[in-house]
Amino acid sequence: MSMQQPRVERADFDRVMVPNYAPAGFIPVRGEGSRVWDQGGRELIDLAGGIAVNGLGHCHPALVSALAKQAGKLWHMSNVFTNEPALQLARKLAEATFAERVFFANSGAEANEAALKLARKVASDRFGGNKHEIISTVNSFHGRTIFTVNVGGQPKYSEGFGPRPEGITHVPYNDISAIEAAISDSTCAVILEPIQGESGVLPADQAWLKRVRELCDQHDALLIFDEVQTGMGRTGKLFAYEHYHVTPDILTTAKSLGGGFPISAMLTLERWAGYLNVGTHGTTFGGNPLACAVGEAVLDTINTPEVLAGVAEREQLFRTYLQEIIERHGVFDRVRGKGLLIGAVLNESWQGRAADILAAAEAAGVLVLMAGPNVVRFAPSLVIEPDDIREGMQRFAAAVKSLCDN
Ligand SMILES: *Cc1c(COP(=O)(O)O)cnc(C)c1O
Repeated sequence: MSMQQPRVERADFDRVMVPNYAPAGFIPVRGEGSRVWDQGGRELIDLAGGIAVNGLGHCHPALVSALAKQAGKLWHMSNVFTNEPALQLARKLAEATFAERVFFANSGAEANEAALKLARKVASDRFGGNKHEIISTVNSFHGRTIFTVNVGGQPKYSEGFGPRPEGITHVPYNDISAIEAAISDSTCAVILEPIQGESGVLPADQAWLKRVRELCDQHDALLIFDEVQTGMGRTGKLFAYEHYHVTPDILTTAKSLGGGFPISAMLTLERWAGYLNVGTHGTTFGGNPLACAVGEAVLDTINTPEVLAGVAEREQLFRTYLQEIIERHGVFDRVRGKGLLIGAVLNESWQGRAADILAAAEAAGVLVLMAGPNVVRFAPSLVIEPDDIREGMQRFAAAVKSLCDN
C-alpha cells in the first residue's frame, strides 16, 4: 500500500459515474513506455495499449514535449481560424497517403460520421436523393453515435435507441457473392474495416477487397476504409490499405493518431472533398492546435522505416510466444491479425472464456484485451521494448497456466 491515502477509489465509480462501463478493480495513475502503475504502486505490463490508442506507449518524450510546447502557445481558436499545427499535420498526412484533403474531428465515430455524410452528400449532389444506401459488414464496429452504431454490424449495440436511420444494409465480411448481390446504383457507399478489430481481429481477404473496389467503381459508390484501429502503423504499414494495394475514396483514422490525445481524421480525394463545401459540416474542437501538435509528433515518430519495420519484428515475437503457449497448454487454436493487432482465437473447449483470461492476466500483472468473447487481443505500443514483450508474455503464459491448472 502507498503511504498516501488516495482521495478517490474504484468504488467511487459506482457512486458518481454513469454505469455504461465496468472498469477493472484498480485505478492506473501513471504510465511510462509499456508499464503502468496503479494507486497502490503495483506495476503492470501494458499489452493493450489503451485499446490500440497508445501507439507510442505512455508519456513518450516526443509527445510530451509537443503537447507542452503547444500548451504554452495556443490552445483553441475555433474553426473561424485555421492554425499551424492543423495545416502541418494535414499536409503530412496527405503526403504520406493516397489522400489530398483532410478533415479533423475528435473521435473515431465522428470521423466516420463525416465520411458517411460526405458519401451521402456526394451521391445526393451528383445523382439526387435516391442514391443513399450504405453497405456495411456484419460484426463491424464504426462507433457509437446513432448513425455510426447503426452502420456498425452488431445489433446488440444499436438496439433500444429508437427509430434507426434508414438505408443501411449489412453483408457478411469477406463474402464476394453477398456484396455482389447487395450493391446497386442506389448504393452511395461501402464502409469496411480492413481488419475487423472489435469483433475478433479478422483480416479482409485480398480478393474480396479488390472485388469491393471494382463494384464501387461500377456503381459510383464511394469506398470508405475505417482505419480507426488499423491506422497509424498498427499493422506495420502506415495504413492497412497499403498491404492490399486497394485504395479507398475515404479513409478514417483515430485511435493511435493522437497517441492518447483525442483526435481523428477523415482523409479523402480532392474530387470528393469539394462536396463538403462551406457550412455543410463542422465540429467545435476538431483540428484544435493541441490535438494536431500531438498528432504531428505521433506521425513524425511512427512514419519512419525503423518504427514500421519494428512492428513486424515485434509481431514475430508475439507469435513465437503465443505458439509456445499453444504447444504447452492448447487453449488457443490460431493466431491472426497483422502487425501489432493480434488476435489469439480460443479453441473449442475454451469458447466464451476471453473475459476469464483477461482477469487472470491482470492478476498476473499484464494487461490484454478481448475482441468478442472468443478472442484475446493484443494491441501494444508499436515501440514496446522486446524485454517488455518477453516479460509480459511470461506473465500471460503464467495466467493461462493458472487457468489450466484449475
Ligand atoms: C474504436 C473504433 C471506432 C470508434 O472510435 P471512437 O473514438 O470510440 O468513436 C470506430 N471504428 C473502429 C474500427 C474502431 O476500432
